Amino acid sequence: MSDIIQLLPDAIANQIAAGEVVQRPASALKELLENAVDAGATQVQVVVKESGKQLIQVIDNGKGMSGTDARMSFERHATSKIRSSADLFSIRTFGFRGEALASIAAVAQVELKTRQAESELGTLIQIEGSEVKKQEPFAGNVGTSVSMKNLFFNVPARRNFLKSNPVEMRHIVDEFQRVALSYSEIGFSLFQQDLEVYSLTPGKLSHRIVGLFGKNYQGQLVPCEEMTPHVNVKGYIGKPENAKKTRGEQFFFVNNRFIKSSYLNHAVSSAFEGLLQPDQHPFYVLFLEIDPSHIDINVHPTKTEIKFDDERTIYAVIRSAVKQALGAHHVVPSLDFSLDVNFNEKWDKDPEKKAQVDREYSYKSFNTPEFKQASTSGWEKLFEGTQQPSRDINRSTPNEETEVLTFESRAKPDEATELIPRRAETESTGATFQVELSYVIAQMSTGFLIIDQQTAHERILYERYLRQLKLAQGTSQQCLFPPTINLGPSDYALVMDIMPELHSLGFMVSEFGKDTVLIQGVPADIPVKNEKELFEGLLEQYKHFKSELSLDTRENLARSLARKSSLKKGQKLNSQEMETLVGQLFACQNPNYGLGGNKTFVKLDLSSIHSFFGK
Ligand code: ADP
Ligand code: MG
Repeated sequence: MSDIIQLLPDAIANQIAAGEVVQRPASALKELLENAVDAGATQVQVVVKESGKQLIQVIDNGKGMSGTDARMSFERHATSKIRSSADLFSIRTFGFRGEALASIAAVAQVELKTRQAESELGTLIQIEGSEVKKQEPFAGNVGTSVSMKNLFFNVPARRNFLKSNPVEMRHIVDEFQRVALSYSEIGFSLFQQDLEVYSLTPGKLSHRIVGLFGKNYQGQLVPCEEMTPHVNVKGYIGKPENAKKTRGEQFFFVNNRFIKSSYLNHAVSSAFEGLLQPDQHPFYVLFLEIDPSHIDINVHPTKTEIKFDDERTIYAVIRSAVKQALGAHHVVPSLDFSLDVNFNEKWDKDPEKKAQVDREYSYKSFNTPEFKQASTSGWEKLFEGTQQPSRDINRSTPNEETEVLTFESRAKPDEATELIPRRAETESTGATFQVELSYVIAQMSTGFLIIDQQTAHERILYERYLRQLKLAQGTSQQCLFPPTINLGPSDYALVMDIMPELHSLGFMVSEFGKDTVLIQGVPADIPVKNEKELFEGLLEQYKHFKSELSLDTRENLARSLARKSSLKKGQKLNSQEMETLVGQLFACQNPNYGLGGNKTFVKLDLSSIHSFFGK
């Protein structure tokens, strides 16, 4: 009988391997980002089209590759990051199997452009389904750009398996966030189609968190740090009132690698016990540093699980770190934890000590009126005038104790936030009222804010609509009596032109005969009496801006709708509405100015008030 075993042709072997590494656009993005980081980049730009199905491009300013290495990088098991199997145990760089580029090139059309600083010319390689189509010199920037087009173009079955664009985009954003969080010292940007989704400047972790998750995280982050001989924990947890109903924003990194672990997640939530309602999940970004020989990361490349030698100790350290952090920032009374991480066991053995600890640990329950009031009107008031809870002297100086309320803003404000009153100041102390039905006066701990209600509301809505347009997230309310509008040919053409954007905002508009549209729904958050008037007004405003300013469609639409649907002068607001307005304004990316460049608020601080009276 003749031999029947044959080696698989490379291309097929690669395709099979690719199935492991590249499951979806986001997994390719992860590999490319990790390569950029490994290459020592300080700036990394990501361009995504059609949720990565059409294109994922990662451009870095890292060290680049020589011509030979560029070609080699597409071979399986080609890696510059590991030389012997002993290295496997001390791996700190991300990639280590040398499989990613080969796999990606097996199932997509890839173009690599790369140049090293020392060579004048770089290399361009085009490769499709593992076949090199082109290799030539290339003149361009130092660094590397890899673009991956038409993922699974040669494996239609896999392509059909990809999920809808929003789902794939969600995965992409997840991967992007994870890498961006673990390297806050690297600048990252993400463009979807041609729109900028993120632009993150290098900086501290707290800034990165705010850059990724929004301004309202400012002042909501509690630093968390614990050093033990076995493992170090560092990062931030969110204050209890910042907790979400969904699990999304929880991040563990082990030696800077994102991992998922429900066991360790439990360690965090158990530290929050009594502070959260059962369906709430705390925010956290925690980095564990641990000797690589105590963990097993030599698992599947796309898996995010990890094995620890001693899970229980890690659990205890994390729990203690989170409890200390909550205690140190007055979220709960704190205990003086020793670094002995087995304290749980010790307590169990010593019932009296345990009982005492439990007494001391009777948390201010979430449901007490005290806490409720605190969480709606500034949690720090909870402790005003009360005795300082006992705390570990070594952990904070007296000076920190008095300043702890604004620890986030204690950091030198960066240029962007300099104009914005610090969080503690924007947390209203309760008194808000209206002057002339035009200005909202909000009392702060250090004076007053005078807010122009219309300008401020326009800013809030503008940023909201812009976000909705970027993410196509607007929701609609259905019109009870859907009006038809005859627009005339030019307006009709205009509406057809901006139809996708209108949908993104929540307008359900459809063609309805010659030059006519039917409005079946309008954005859910606009209180509308007359849908036709809203739509026509929006168009008018849009055309006005279009002739006055050269704005792109989305910018213009967001502005127009904000103008059209904002609060106006003369509108009476109740105190709840005023509070919301103030809160939303300071959650804006740029709360200082309105759409026309006017100030949204001015601050009258105590020192100016004193100076009126010559004090
Ligand atoms: P691995 O990262 O596991 O080594 P990859 O297939 O991802 O495997 O990459 C293969 C090799 O190509 C890397 O070891 C590295 O030398 C080189 N490489 C890949 N991407 C870049 C990049 N962005 N900049 C510089 N070198 C890169
Ligand atoms: Mg790699």
